[in-house]
Amino acid sequence: MPGKMKAAVVEAFGETLVLREWNIPTPGPGQILVRTEACGVCHTDLHAARGDWPAKPTLPFIPGHEGIGVVVALGPGVTAVKEGDRVGVPWLFSACGHCEHCLSAWETVCAEAEFGGYTRNGGFAEYILADPNYVAHIPAGLEAAEAAPIICAGITTYKGIKETEARPGECIVISGAGGLGHLAIQYAKAMGLQVCAVDIDDGKLAHATRLGADVVVNAKGDDPAQAVRKATGGGAHGVRITAASLPAFKQGIAMTRKRGTCVLVGLPPGEVPLPLFSVMADCITVRGSFVGNRQDMAEALAFAARGQVKADIEFQPLSAINAVFDRLQKAEVPSRVVLDFAGS
Ligand code: NAD
Ligand code: ZN
Ligand code: ZN
Repeated sequence: MPGKMKAAVVEAFGETLVLREWNIPTPGPGQILVRTEACGVCHTDLHAARGDWPAKPTLPFIPGHEGIGVVVALGPGVTAVKEGDRVGVPWLFSACGHCEHCLSAWETVCAEAEFGGYTRNGGFAEYILADPNYVAHIPAGLEAAEAAPIICAGITTYKGIKETEARPGECIVISGAGGLGHLAIQYAKAMGLQVCAVDIDDGKLAHATRLGADVVVNAKGDDPAQAVRKATGGGAHGVRITAASLPAFKQGIAMTRKRGTCVLVGLPPGEVPLPLFSVMADCITVRGSFVGNRQDMAEALAFAARGQVKADIEFQPLSAINAVFDRLQKAEVPSRVVLDFAGS
């Protein structure tokens, strides 16, 4: 499909994105072309555009890994989807399919994995090239914009909750009640957990309460870990950190109950010292969690399709991306911004 599309492009790390024309890609063998309807804006897109992490994307690139749209063209040999299907092009863009990690449904850590909006161009554009074997299949009845935050924020928080191994009736801390966190509160309640939400913004904490959090703690207080330990009678069985700030990680480990699990999801640049004595003496597990596999994706979307989880969305046009990044950086986005391509 020849022609031009509008895209928001990172041309230099740390600079504003450039709104420009880009060639509409042609799907090669085993690829598909998706016409974007909506794309969520994740804090990861901001890390990508700033070049925050050790492995950086090659410039120029198009961010966005919550892109939802309709399949409009198939390359040769594609059978996994058909034209007209609604799909999502997630962070896990593709993987090798045959290494030990792929074989055990841990394709997220495949050495050959490609990442949407990072090593492959993403959804801040009117069209996205995708691998049909790794796209999210959007359930009927779920609007494109409703599905967008689920394919990164939703799946990542859902998987992160599972990785805490907290059981129904037990306590979980959701630290960072932003894009990922506001969905995590809803998943955790739907999974039968008691939820303690932690953030530095009172507005986000008030929203957390509206979403069903049983307890809220402002991390700007004197000793947020002490407040959580008091509220949970000795710490939470599971702690899941999606704050994009380093102090939250040390605090989160101190919020974990003896023999509990602290799952690290947020990715601010830098390193966190581990308090060895308490981690060992309290037999705490500290575990990283990275998006989720394709089965997690189907499950995360099913919660949304059933109405148990609903993203709070603020619509913006693609042209507003730099203002959105600015607000995300200052933690001023209430929950999730979704770029709306309907009018484009
Ligand atoms: P966001 O900006 O919407 O939310 C971050 C929240 O953290 C904000 O509400 C902010 O107020 C809060 N916060 C800041 N300091 C805090 C503190 N000390 N304690 C508690 N909360 C604090 O960002 P998002 O889109 O939800 O992404 C969050 C992080 O998760 C980012 O670093 C992103 O890159 C990362 N992420 C990781 C994965 C993964 O697979 N591991 C996937 C997606 C996003
Ligand atoms: Zn993301
Ligand atoms: Zn692999």
